[in-house]
Amino acid sequence: ALTDKLSRLVKEMRGQARITESNVQDMLREVRMALLEADVALPVVRDFIARVKEKALGQEVMGSLSPGQALVGIVSKELAATMGEGVSDINLAAQPPAVILMAGLQGAGKTTTTAKLAKHLIEKRKKKVLTVSGDVYRPAAIEQLKVVTKQAGAEWFPSTPDQKPADIARAALDYAKRHFFDVLLVDTAGRLAIDEALMNEIKELHAILKPIETLFVVDAMQGQDAVNTAKAFKEALPLTGIILTKTDGDSRGGAALSVRQITGAPIKFSGTSEKLDGLEVFDAERHAGRILGMGDIVALVEQMASGVNMAEAQKLAAKIKSGDGFDLNDFLSQLQQMKSMGGLSSLLDKLPTQMAAKAGSIDMDKAEKDMKRKEGIILSMTPLERRKPELIKATRKRRIAAGSGVHVQEVNRLLNEFEQMQGMMKKMKGSGMMKMMKRMGG
Ligand code: GDP
Ligand code: MG
Repeated sequence: ALTDKLSRLVKEMRGQARITESNVQDMLREVRMALLEADVALPVVRDFIARVKEKALGQEVMGSLSPGQALVGIVSKELAATMGEGVSDINLAAQPPAVILMAGLQGAGKTTTTAKLAKHLIEKRKKKVLTVSGDVYRPAAIEQLKVVTKQAGAEWFPSTPDQKPADIARAALDYAKRHFFDVLLVDTAGRLAIDEALMNEIKELHAILKPIETLFVVDAMQGQDAVNTAKAFKEALPLTGIILTKTDGDSRGGAALSVRQITGAPIKFSGTSEKLDGLEVFDAERHAGRILGMGDIVALVEQMASGVNMAEAQKLAAKIKSGDGFDLNDFLSQLQQMKSMGGLSSLLDKLPTQMAAKAGSIDMDKAEKDMKRKEGIILSMTPLERRKPELIKATRKRRIAAGSGVHVQEVNRLLNEFEQMQGMMKKMKGSGMMKMMKRMGG
């Protein structure tokens, strides 16, 4: 119903349109830039763009969006669909022990992820888990696995640098069988795709262990080279899944699309911190938003741009792009635009997932009143305060609160919210999608 409301809203402001060969070209160029800026590998970008173009051409633009808006929708849906295909938990459907083999470059996060998975399998799936390290090249790596395995509450099978990885694998497998472990997680040494000896070594491990899952661990911050790495690992091993680590970093994580497309294996989990509970089921939609540069927030601004006060929205977009500070005046004009566009409820499903989850539990009437109060608070500030919110200390807060008839806490809350918004606007700055927005607006 929300979506209906939304499209009706936009319908009133736009004429009918269709995506055509002539209007799609420029827009696709912007999409291409956005993907490249997110470090999606070039061949993957080409492929993706071709697919989107095919889907988009001739498409009737629904609910009278502009062709640009419709295309953004197609792009982000296609991106989420591609990356989200086959997302699933770890497959343990094997004669126990179910073996999970970890593969990837050095520093990708294999050891950390091994322990995270151990914890996940113990806590969420009630399994008895054994880990073992085949990383005989760095003594510290074996010790590292031992430490994190203990933290995860799993059992660790000892190995030493003077052993052959193949022997370690056989011994661990044997031990796991005899002690009725459900799962054996095998951590391995990082290896470069070009190192043939090491690639052969992991192939041998695979032959011995016959893992039900062979997981390719890849750093979300990996750039253009992700394609070559993924290709080499795919050629060496029948990969069954991908784990995308370090998604808490500030990269746009284009590697996810590259690796998904090249390996054909589903992205199962993402690593969200160094800690052992920093493992989440991969959320393709959220990640698509991130690759495109703030995703839903972009959609929000986009909707604002299609709203009544086009000039204001463009000023805002220009401001973000030029790097000028996003201040309380902008915040105020956002509030006012939301109001002029049918209120908060119509924008609800455009908010980022975390915010929307919160918003879902909110009483809308109350929220709308809240918005008016916020507007009142900002209107009670001096122009200087609006431009430089950092000036607003205790005395000013009291004056503003009195002026707008609210408690000081409410002023604080508004300032916090503003800061969050400002943070998001900073992230949006320079994203390829911003340029597309401008094009659509103009
Ligand atoms: P390996 O060489 O593939 O075994 O990589 P490690 O597991 O030793 O991880 C390399 C570094 O990345 C370590 O400092 C980890 O703490 C860190 N790391 C791994 N996964 C994540 C993650 O999801 N987020 C963050 N922030 N750091 C991670
Ligand atoms: Mg390691």
